[in-house]
Amino acid sequence: MTTAPATCCLCDALCGLLVQHENGTVTSVRGNPDDVFSRGYICPKGVALPDVQNDPDRVRQPLRRTERGFEPVSWDEALRDIADRIGVVQERGGRDAAAVYIGNPTAHSYAAVLFAVPLVAVLGTRNLYSSNSLDSAPRQLASYFMYGARTLLPIPDGCRSSRGGNGSCDCKRRHAKV
Ligand code: SF4
Repeated sequence: MTTAPATCCLCDALCGLLVQHENGTVTSVRGNPDDVFSRGYICPKGVALPDVQNDPDRVRQPLRRTERGFEPVSWDEALRDIADRIGVVQERGGRDAAAVYIGNPTAHSYAAVLFAVPLVAVLGTRNLYSSNSLDSAPRQLASYFMYGARTLLPIPDGCRSSRGGNGSCDCKRRHAKV
């Protein structure tokens, strides 16, 4: 059994991990207490990484949907097929008929970032989306309509909630007048 330090790339928190593995199989993932940012804390998605890694149904190579079901194809074949289909879509509907979505896995992969820029340039579409389109931008719009400014955020009143009502709430100290 070997333990290796790693970084979780599922989201921007980039938590430090300790990954236990044996004979090429990940057996457990836990927080790395020596990580200067996360200090041993990780969320359930980080703990569940071995389930994703070891899932027998995990997609490990390109698959093409056919009348007989999904069939494995080479990367060259898959990329050629996708390029042909995007060409057909843009021929019929114009350049904006294609849309690009860039999420965290792309942002945390230098290869994906390097190739995303020329791909977007070649497609020439104005339809670009990211994880920001799904979470931050709608939250900012909601804050604008509800509070009058997109940067305003509600903060839970822990001191007066049932959770903080036992007097142990840390926000009492943070809110305390000095
Ligand atoms: S462990 Fe959770 S919070 Fe930390 S980087 Fe991974 S997904 Fe994000």
